[in-house]
Amino acid sequence: MTFSLMKSLLCLALLLIPQAAQKSVPVGEEPRHRVVFSNKYVRVIDAEVRAGDTTLFHTHTEDNVPVAISGGRMRTEVMGGKVSESSVETGGVWFARGTYTHKISNTGRTTLRFIDAEILASPGTASSDAPLDKVPGLKLEIENERVRIYRVKLAPGQKTGMHSHALAGLDVAITRGKVAVVSGDRQQKAAEVKPGEFSWRAGAGDHSIENVGQSIYEAVEIEWK
Ligand SMILES: [Zn+2]
Ligand SMILES: [Zn+2]
Repeated sequence: MTFSLMKSLLCLALLLIPQAAQKSVPVGEEPRHRVVFSNKYVRVIDAEVRAGDTTLFHTHTEDNVPVAISGGRMRTEVMGGKVSESSVETGGVWFARGTYTHKISNTGRTTLRFIDAEILASPGTASSDAPLDKVPGLKLEIENERVRIYRVKLAPGQKTGMHSHALAGLDVAITRGKVAVVSGDRQQKAAEVKPGEFSWRAGAGDHSIENVGQSIYEAVEIEWK
C-alpha cells in the first residue's frame, strides 16, 4: 500500500467516526459561553451564538434559567437524542433542569444571545411569602421549588412603587432603557440600562423601579428559594 493511499484511508476512517464518539465540554468551557459573574448561589453565563454557527456539545450540570436577550431561530441537538427546531422570542425565559448535554445551532439570520443564570445553592431564606402579584408592572411567570420568576414591564413614566423581595436573586434587563431605582432609602441616579445587564440582590430588600425613558422597559427578576 502506498503512503498516499494509507493517508486517504486514514482520512476516510476519521470521517467515519460515529457521532456517539463525540465529546462534550462543561458549559463554562464552551467558547461561545462566557462566565461573567459567580458567587455561592449563582453563576451567570453570557452566551452568544452567531447566525450559522453551532456550539460544541456542552453539559449543563446545574438547574438554570436562560433569559433570551436576542431571540431567533435555533436547532437543539441533545447528545445521543433528538434534534428539535424552535424559535425563541426576545425576552423568553424558562427553567431548565440539569444535567443535560446538547449543542445549539443558530439557524436564523441574527445573533442569539442568552443570559443564563445557574442556580448553585439556596440562600436558605424562608419562601412562604405570597408572590408579588399586586405590584404594578410585575407579573409572576414561573414558580417551582427553586425559583420564582417575575416579568417586569413598565411603560414610559410607569413605576413599580416600593416593593419588598423576601428572597435574594438576580435582575436581568431585556430591553434598553432608562430607569430610576430606589433601593431601601437610597435614591440612585437614573441610569441607562443595556440589554443583558444584570445585578445580584444579596438578600431580602425593598426597591422601586421607575421607567424614566421613552420606550417600554422590560426585565426579569429571578428569586432564589
Ligand atoms: Zn446549552
Ligand atoms: Zn422587584
